[in-house]
Amino acid sequence: MPSHFPQSLIHSSWRHHMHFMGLQKMTLLDYPGKVACTVFLSGCNFRCPFCHNPDLVFASEPGTGIPEQEFFAFLSQRKGFLDGVCITGGEPMLERELVPFIQKIKAMGLLVKLDTNGSFPERLQHLVENHLVDYVAMDIKNSKEHYGATIGIPAYDTTKVEQSVTILMEGSVSYEFRTTLVREYHTNEDIKAMGAWLSGCRAYFLQSFVDSGNLLGKEPMHAFTEEDMVRFKNLLQSNIEAIFIRE
Ligand code: SF4
Repeated sequence: MPSHFPQSLIHSSWRHHMHFMGLQKMTLLDYPGKVACTVFLSGCNFRCPFCHNPDLVFASEPGTGIPEQEFFAFLSQRKGFLDGVCITGGEPMLERELVPFIQKIKAMGLLVKLDTNGSFPERLQHLVENHLVDYVAMDIKNSKEHYGATIGIPAYDTTKVEQSVTILMEGSVSYEFRTTLVREYHTNEDIKAMGAWLSGCRAYFLQSFVDSGNLLGKEPMHAFTEEDMVRFKNLLQSNIEAIFIRE
């Protein structure tokens, strides 16, 4: 099994040190059906205005946060109690050392769930092909038409995100798509367009935006009501069977 991403997938700007920013020691929610811990890696290539954790978007200096040895010491202590590890961000795929990091986790007999914004399809393919991930949760930020505005990069070309969707839908690894819905960014038309795009997918989770009081964007943003969320779910039902509203 390769110990890193192949050279062709490594860019000179890529970071050489893991950027651990936090650890949730136990979660029953992050990895469906599993007892897991969640490790937060900092740095993201998107700038979603509704991102509720700007501290995770801007890469930390190496050496800040939790030392890697401390994380693995924690995992050793919890062996037999945890089923798996959720790796989230930021965008974990920005980590050059992600492959050896995952390999160390899997060598301990743990499952790996990866959260991603889907903008690195080649790296996703590599992880899937080499059985390095057991579950992938990919964000779908909006309809293709409104993707750029929703991620804070107006000219964004959605090709790579579309490729990641295809990799997951055509592959054999368990996955979910998920969308955070914000009143200022999502319309009925966007929901219908996402339903057509993701038609037949394995599972799709909708969650309403929550104002953490510390958002990346400065414009006011608002959540949808419960009724709105149910309406969106109904709009999607002709394309997708497994739709869930996540609290
Ligand atoms: S919400 Fe957007 S900016 Fe924040 S971590 Fe996720 S992809 Fe990055």
